[in-house]
This record gives sequence, structure tokens and C-alpha cells, in this order.
Amino acid sequence: MKLHVLPVGPIQANCYILCDEQEKKCAVIDPGGEGAKVARAVKGTDCEAVAIFLTHGHYDHTGGVEELQELWPEVPVYINKRDQHEDSRFWQLCPPLKGTKSYDEGDCLEVGSLKVEVLATPGHSGGSVTLKCENCLFTGDTLFAGSCGRTDFPDGSMTTILASLKRLGELEGDWNVFPGHMENSTLERERRYNPYLRQAMGSKGYFG
Ligand SMILES: [Zn+2]
Repeated sequence: MKLHVLPVGPIQANCYILCDEQEKKCAVIDPGGEGAKVARAVKGTDCEAVAIFLTHGHYDHTGGVEELQELWPEVPVYINKRDQHEDSRFWQLCPPLKGTKSYDEGDCLEVGSLKVEVLATPGHSGGSVTLKCENCLFTGDTLFAGSCGRTDFPDGSMTTILASLKRLGELEGDWNVFPGHMENSTLERERRYNPYLRQAMGSKGYFG
């Protein structure tokens, strides 16, 4: 797998392009607010986009979807349905998207020979997911380097995100962590230094 990182939009969400270079296929994770820029970057990889995966429904992660759907009408867009709301009070934060497919816990999607597995990790939003591929975790706004996502949105919950963080922290072995904002990390580093992950896992103090 080859990974390209592209900061997109006014609040610089991380868009990731996941490439299987042998089969020349790729997937876009969270195309933020800049569809055209993402499309150019995909062209530069020489791989064909076969899927768009959304870690959650917030506009700073989904803003480029419509533009990409126009450019790539055949390419499926996956989002967990709990982040697509009927209630219009959510729409400013979670704009409704057309023609998406829902994915959820346990689903496994193929990008060429790469396998992308879905873990439901709610808390930042009801439909937040983490995507697992090879030794990488794409954690969206659930787990950041040194921190975690906000939970003060209408469907956010600190209790729920802590349960999701616990689950990530308990994955066996070390993983590369690629969050929805800011720099990447490793799960082992986060287990040691991330106060939210440590709280979630019941650790006492920083080095306890
Ligand atoms: Zn978010």
C-alpha cells in the first residue's frame, strides 16, 4: 500500500489516498472541502479511484464529495448511515449527501488487493468509524495524536468516545494512526501519552 496525505479545506482536514500500486487502484478517505484538488492528486498517483470512504459526516471531511461524484459517477461513496440525518438541525454540521452507501462495524471493502475493515467508533458523532488497512488505522476525529475529537455536538458523547478509544487502545500490537486532523502517530505512542486514551483504558497518571 502507498499512502498520500493531502490537507484539505479551511480547517485542514487530512484527506488520505490509499493506493494499491500493483493493481493501480485507490480509495479516497475524507475528501474534505476540495474535490478538484483531490481529483488532481488522484490523477497524480496513476491509480484509478474505486471508492470514497468517509470516517464521519462532518462537512470538513465530506465537502469534496459532491464534486468527486460529478467527476466519478461510478465510484461508490461510503458513510455510516447514523451520520446522515433526517432532522435538518444537523445539516449545517452534517450536510446530507446523495447516492451514498452505508457501511458499518465488520464490513470489509476491497481496494484492488487491499482490504479495508470498518470499526464503528462513535462518540465524536454517532456514525464515526475507524478504517483498518494493513498496519494503519484511519481514525477520523475519534483519535488524534495526543487528543481526541470534540463531543459537544448534538449526537456527540464523551462516554461513548471513551468506549471507542478503549476499543482502539486494546487492539493487539502497534498500528500507524492517521487521524482526520493534524499529524500522524502510532497506537503505542498514544497508549503512553494520550490522556484520553489512557483514561479510556483505565490507566492512572502518565506512566502508571
Ligand atoms: Zn468531525
